[in-house]
Amino acid sequence: MCFRYQSLSIASLFRKYGLLLPGLLAVAVVVGVVVFRVSENLGFAELQRTGTQRLELYATSLNRQIDKYAYFPATLGLERDVIDLVAHGKRIADTVNRYLEQLNQRAGTLSIYLLDRRGHVAAASNWNRPDSFIGEDLSYRSYFADAIRGRPGRLFGIGITRGEPGYYLSSPLISNDEVVGVAVVKVSLEQLEQSWATVEVPVIVTDQNGVVILASVPSLKFTTLSPLPDVERRRLERSLQYNARPLPSLGLMREEALGENAERVRLAPSAAVDGRVKLSGNFLAQSAPMGDTGWSLTVLSPVSEISAIAWTRAALAAVASAFIGILLMLFNQRRQHLHDRLRAREVLQRAHDELERKVVERTRTLRAAQDELVHAAKLATIGQISAGLAHEINQPLAALRTLSGNAVKFLRRGDVATAEGNLNRIGSIVDGLGTLTNQLKSFARKSPGTAGPVDVRRALDNAVFLLDQRLRRENVAVSIAVEAGQATALCDANRLEQVMVNLIANALDAIDGAPSPALRLCGRREDARIVIEVHDNGPGLPGHVREHLFEPFFTTKESNRGLGLGLAISSEIVHHFGGTLAGTNRPEGGAVFVVTLPAAGIGETQ
Ligand code: ADP
Repeated sequence: MCFRYQSLSIASLFRKYGLLLPGLLAVAVVVGVVVFRVSENLGFAELQRTGTQRLELYATSLNRQIDKYAYFPATLGLERDVIDLVAHGKRIADTVNRYLEQLNQRAGTLSIYLLDRRGHVAAASNWNRPDSFIGEDLSYRSYFADAIRGRPGRLFGIGITRGEPGYYLSSPLISNDEVVGVAVVKVSLEQLEQSWATVEVPVIVTDQNGVVILASVPSLKFTTLSPLPDVERRRLERSLQYNARPLPSLGLMREEALGENAERVRLAPSAAVDGRVKLSGNFLAQSAPMGDTGWSLTVLSPVSEISAIAWTRAALAAVASAFIGILLMLFNQRRQHLHDRLRAREVLQRAHDELERKVVERTRTLRAAQDELVHAAKLATIGQISAGLAHEINQPLAALRTLSGNAVKFLRRGDVATAEGNLNRIGSIVDGLGTLTNQLKSFARKSPGTAGPVDVRRALDNAVFLLDQRLRRENVAVSIAVEAGQATALCDANRLEQVMVNLIANALDAIDGAPSPALRLCGRREDARIVIEVHDNGPGLPGHVREHLFEPFFTTKESNRGLGLGLAISSEIVHHFGGTLAGTNRPEGGAVFVVTLPAAGIGETQ
């Protein structure tokens, strides 16, 4: 199991994100381009839709305006005086002039006039004005040429006399199935033009020569969309159709055809700027032919707005995609981080479990080793007291030998009563030996070390019993100051006996050779604790001994008498049951060892 700590150095960051950042930038650029394209296309489609609507609207109103006068010139042929004047040269010019003047006023047209077969003006609504057309030769006008051939004529032109632009409608005057002259009506389209001044996008009308004859932007009027070829320019100059206007070119460049009547065009920056309408840049030009006039109506919708919106959207989309990319990156990083943490936690948990398992295993092994050690120490103690025990057994055995020999003699003599007395004594000695061996066996057994209620008095009695021979031999005055059942400790009886044997044996070693050796054993309950004391009147515990008292292998005794493990193991046993062991000096001399153990519940005894 290993933990990997990543150092967040700049180099590692670059290694980690070095390729990611340009990638993010590339994605942002691609998204921006796509959004720009989509937005531009959508904007264009929308512009085309509104452009078409505008085109239809303006074309309808212009057509209506033109159609209003379509049959006007033809109706003049119905007037008798008109035919008489033109066809028969009757001297009624004054009457016709006045008639035309009145008609002109009522119809709101610019002028009405009649041409004879040669194209000379025979009568005119402006007969009484100094710039009257009367007598003028207008045979060069196309509308005359058309009408004299029996067809209605249509022409947008600028008047020669007053320089007034207008729409000329002509119709043949017929008498006896013969064209005798031409009726002409000049209509002003200015009104319509004025209403266009408020339109949002530039609208222009070009005639068959490609000259702008009507425009919502005045400066566009009498310009051409593209430069006129010299031949054409000279022809137009000759026809005086535009009355010697210079007809400059708008410099319109066709960029892209978008269907039949729509194209993307560019107006050169040099094009005039008039009022609010910007006349340079890219436009969507949508055109529609104007009936039989040969004119074309064009709506110029600026695309700059679409581009601006598309740019804004593209920029926003690019920023948003970059932002989302960063968010995703952070999210992914966080996910990775969480994943790493989870993995680390798992590894840690496994390590912890493994450690715990090992601790349990080691504790078990240690406990077993400790048990073995405790048992080994006990066996060592037994070894130490065995000399005394051998004596303890030898004496009764000798007594048994004597008593049994005597019993045989008494039976031979026939003294059955004395023999019986001997045999009874043999019985009680055997019982005594049995008790001793039982006690020894019980002490020597390997105890499991599990806690239970233990009567302190009984444990002390058993310990004293095992050392009885030595106590007697050394004339030790033993007093036990605790009654049976008075103090019950929560521990293991066998282990407590082992502790007591150790403490008493140490005390006996200490008082060995003392003038009046005395041993006092006490037991009492203090609250929830049981206190057991072993007092002796030996030399006590010198300072250096007290410091190392419970250290393993610390002994002041000769090697054949002590290993220095007694107190260390006793202390371990007592601690195992939640108790303590301490050794101090008594004020009156000698040492006292105090054992405390948890008290068992009242009335419980093992
Ligand atoms: P051992 O008995 O094998 O020496 P212990 O751990 O039982 O080992 O005792 C350690 C030492 O403590 C003894 O060698 C002795 O010096 C001292 N000691 C123990 N009990 C007494 C006592 N009652 N009086 C004086 N010294 C003692």
